[in-house]
Amino acid sequence: MKNILLIICDQLSAQALSAYGNTDSRTPHLDALMARGTRFATAFSNCPLCMPSRASFWTGRYPHQTGVLSNGREFPVTPISSDVPTLGSIFFAAGYQTVHFGKCHDAGTLRGFDCAEIARVPVEATDPTLPVNYDTEQDRDATNKIITWLARDESRPFFAVADLNNPHDICNWIGRFEHDPIPPISDPLPALPTNLHRAEGEFERLPLPVQYLCCAHNRQAQIAEWDEHKIRHYLRAYLHYVSRADAEIGRILAALNARADAAETLIVFMADHGDSMGGRWMATKHCTFYEETVRVPLVFAGPGIAGSGRVAEGLVSLLDLFPTLCDYAGLPIPPGLGGASLLPQLRGEVVAPREYVAAEWHTEWGFTIEPGRMIRTPHHKYTHYLESNGEELYDLHSDPGELRNLATDPAHITVLETHRQILREHAARTGDGYFNLTWKAAPRWRSHTPGYRHHRGPTAPMEVSSR
Ligand code: ZN
Repeated sequence: MKNILLIICDQLSAQALSAYGNTDSRTPHLDALMARGTRFATAFSNCPLCMPSRASFWTGRYPHQTGVLSNGREFPVTPISSDVPTLGSIFFAAGYQTVHFGKCHDAGTLRGFDCAEIARVPVEATDPTLPVNYDTEQDRDATNKIITWLARDESRPFFAVADLNNPHDICNWIGRFEHDPIPPISDPLPALPTNLHRAEGEFERLPLPVQYLCCAHNRQAQIAEWDEHKIRHYLRAYLHYVSRADAEIGRILAALNARADAAETLIVFMADHGDSMGGRWMATKHCTFYEETVRVPLVFAGPGIAGSGRVAEGLVSLLDLFPTLCDYAGLPIPPGLGGASLLPQLRGEVVAPREYVAAEWHTEWGFTIEPGRMIRTPHHKYTHYLESNGEELYDLHSDPGELRNLATDPAHITVLETHRQILREHAARTGDGYFNLTWKAAPRWRSHTPGYRHHRGPTAPMEVSSR
């Protein structure tokens, strides 16, 4: 039995890492890990929101199957039923030490793991333009605690999780600098994203939840009046919090390497979802399914894994984590999972490409409810939102920045119909009652000129919260 060390970041886009093409990012420890393992080029989160994504990968089921559809508040989350197998419960029953350090936000899906209590510990900010908040402070405590745990001498195999918050501290950064000017800095700023601006008239062709993302999403509203200079500062700060996560990961991997059984340990690295990274003038994540928010890093390194920086092509999703780890450990894969084992690819075998992967959205806090679905095929992305039957279709080869919505273009009706059919069949096959759900958005959250730069005043959550 091999050990498993699973390292998770919160809100880390694949494209924020140098291995995935980012030339401004500095992550030496993750680079080294990827250089000796296999990374998946196109791995997707099944929901761009913490709790639904986490409940999904800890159980290997789609959000509509776990019932964990939001982060709570006005749309409360019901913890999953005790008869649903979780990764922790499967590995605990198989005799592993199952331990978890860091962010939970799991709606009961960490069942089977012994979860350490995490506190905030002081972390010095190195730069007044890059303040630290609870995300960074909890990461330090989680890292310290897993390092202490790894130093113990214990013969039983382990499944240990380091569940880091960063680069999620970017959310606090946006709030901190919403109005305030940023003090001058000496180092260069990252380049603006190439897909920063939508062309004139494009907003009106988007599904309403996307047009009015700002009205449902506090962080999106907070950047409405920013200029390009501030977007570059946002990217700089985001990459800073990425590098903070990388530094903690370096400490964890050093602690692992100090163990006699380090070479007998599978290391997995991933993120629950991504961040908009300024693409299309968007911040953090909400109801949209653009590559920045749903494409995540997924890396495996260790015994039995084809190494030397191998890149596995083809569509995979975080639903594949559960069956892959069971398969790797020689444990039976429970029935009813949404994904499939990636072990053949990890051994270096060539497998038939998947037709598609799917992601879902329901609501963040329940103040607006905008059910949506994404079907990502090798060349295209199709999204559907119930509100006004909104659709998007992007050709990811000719338009990787997802700026030209082809769903309203008669020339692409055949491709559109194909993707509509995939979604219908996917919903039927997975028991997804999506098409019978209802959306909710008060008229005042659909009232300004389309486009989030026109947003002024409170968002739906802020208004309701301040009543
Ligand atoms: Zn708005």
